[in-house]
Amino acid sequence: MLKVVKKCALCFVCAVSLLFSSFAVSAEENYEDGHITIDTVSALNGDSVIVKIGIENNPGIMAMTLSITYDSSALTYERYYWGYLGDYTVVDHPDKNLIRFVNCESMNLDANRTMISLQFKVKEDAEFGFYPIDIEYKSGDFCNWKLDRLMPVITSGGVNVEFNGENCSHKEYGEWETAAEPTCTQAGAKQRVCEKCGHVDISEIPAAGHDFAAEWTIDRQATGDSSGIMSRHCKNCEEVTDVLSFTLEQSEENEIDNTEGSVVAPSDLTDELVKEQLPEVYENNGGSSIPKADEGSAAADGSGIINKISENSEGRIAKILSSISDFKWLKIALISALIINMRLFVL
Ligand SMILES: [Zn+2]
Ligand SMILES: [Zn+2]
Repeated sequence: MLKVVKKCALCFVCAVSLLFSSFAVSAEENYEDGHITIDTVSALNGDSVIVKIGIENNPGIMAMTLSITYDSSALTYERYYWGYLGDYTVVDHPDKNLIRFVNCESMNLDANRTMISLQFKVKEDAEFGFYPIDIEYKSGDFCNWKLDRLMPVITSGGVNVEFNGENCSHKEYGEWETAAEPTCTQAGAKQRVCEKCGHVDISEIPAAGHDFAAEWTIDRQATGDSSGIMSRHCKNCEEVTDVLSFTLEQSEENEIDNTEGSVVAPSDLTDELVKEQLPEVYENNGGSSIPKADEGSAAADGSGIINKISENSEGRIAKILSSISDFKWLKIALISALIINMRLFVL
């Protein structure tokens, strides 16, 4: 809650600062404030293409508001894919030949990679030629958490409509390549290019799903007056699951490291806490604090405790299956067994 309030306050201050900024851009060719590059891609009429917008020499940016310009007579904006930024809004204005992009984080982000990827469709009647995609902004449109104004250098890109694939049957595609990485919750995209005519074939990569650690992390330590909080963290994002509270006595009795950020392996204590506080989870895990697959990996580290799981309901199996994405073969075998089981039941 406090985090949200803090973030809102920062965003507000930043937005006010951006509103009152009206200095003209003087394009200085140094990369101290970052270098934003827009991809140049080739496409056929009717193709969808993904254009990445990435940053290098990132000085640490907290907020930005800018216009991505494109030629809407030849390109139709279709969608965007997430990059490393967490919080942003994308609004297409085809009548103005631009996409408004507003981003505001709770702190400086300094990654040097794709910020966002945009997918456009090349119109069937677009003439052959190059259609530039650029970024327009003015002083004050980029700022860091100190509200210093940043002036990143922009290298524009665009879409080259240059091939005529009308009579091509696209039988010789190259390898699939990742065009936009999926995140835990958002889909990405892959693409392959016809080696004969350059036609681009795009396919979605489903969201990866969260990959929760088998261990708990202490989020708040227990004191004599208040209970502590621990949860299992996603290895790839900020999401947490199986949030448990515990007392100082419990941490002492079970000799767990009661300091913020320390890791607690599945144990009799976590079994007890999950059973008490998250009975459904406990039942779904077959009488354990974590699913069998996760427990196996914890056991491999020498820190887990083996518990027998006796599951016989479809729901439990499905839940466990969804949590062991690393074991695809096991999934396939279990799903096959389920299908056979169901067919026997129907017969
Ligand atoms: Zn082709
Ligand atoms: Zn995640």
